[in-house]
Amino acid sequence: MSSGEASGYRGRFAPSPSGPLHDGSLLAAMASYLDARAQGGRWLLRIEDIDTPRCAAGADTLIMQQLQTLGMQWDEPPVWQSKRLPNYEAAFARLQAQGLIYGCACTRRMLSDGPYPGTCRHGLPPGRTARAWRLRVPQGTVHFVDRWQGPQSQDVAGEVGDFILHRADGMWAYQFVVVVDDGLQGITDIVRGNDLLDSTARQRVLAQLLGYEPPRVMHVPLLCDRTGRKLSKQNHAPALDVSHPLDTLQRAWRNLGFAAFPASTIQEFWARAVPLWAARHCPDRQ
Ligand code: GLU
Repeated sequence: MSSGEASGYRGRFAPSPSGPLHDGSLLAAMASYLDARAQGGRWLLRIEDIDTPRCAAGADTLIMQQLQTLGMQWDEPPVWQSKRLPNYEAAFARLQAQGLIYGCACTRRMLSDGPYPGTCRHGLPPGRTARAWRLRVPQGTVHFVDRWQGPQSQDVAGEVGDFILHRADGMWAYQFVVVVDDGLQGITDIVRGNDLLDSTARQRVLAQLLGYEPPRVMHVPLLCDRTGRKLSKQNHAPALDVSHPLDTLQRAWRNLGFAAFPASTIQEFWARAVPLWAARHCPDRQ
């Protein structure tokens, strides 16, 4: 079931190891895993530990144990972003060589919430030094079809402005490294939480400038707590208890909008869930 050679599909789950998985992050993991299996694809695990202050020691190991307990096995050795810095430097240099990067001296306090106004686009103000590095975003509207949310469009230059690739604290920005990794790992399909829908147009702009084919995307609904906030580590979502893996799987399955079905083993759960996912979400492959 896990050989993806034939279909060419390459999906991934890319957790930030800020803590163990919770019900919300399991949804993204499950949806991406189901989609890869339903399409005869490969499923990769990438630990997004680039934002080191947000990482919790040992969370990567815990996440891997949780996935394995739930029967979600990745098909290639996992990668850690913290070990891939030369890739990001090389991609950045390519953009820089095309004149697409500029240094920015603006502090957060100098900027309002809206799009970046382009203050440093034509040079730093006298006496100021660059703190962060921004992409010169080309004009134009990005259009794409999300497999769950439908047709989307965003004028990145107008609505977001030149965004940061290298932060003032010296770290690479998520938007940049995710595109470099998806490109280098040959990811064809991204399935993740809907909170990242808003990042997709930016990521497609970057992919195009770096010469990568932008992956197909599907953004699954987020799980919210009783007050309507996204379930997340920051909002103190409890760690996933995998002591009853079948119950955990069935709960996530129902959270993805499916009806529960009887299964007495984890293997049986996946064997039944994959074709149900395929029938609903991969109509072209039936
Ligand atoms: N690392 C990101 C997160 O955990 C997900 C990145 C992605 O799927 O593009 O929110």
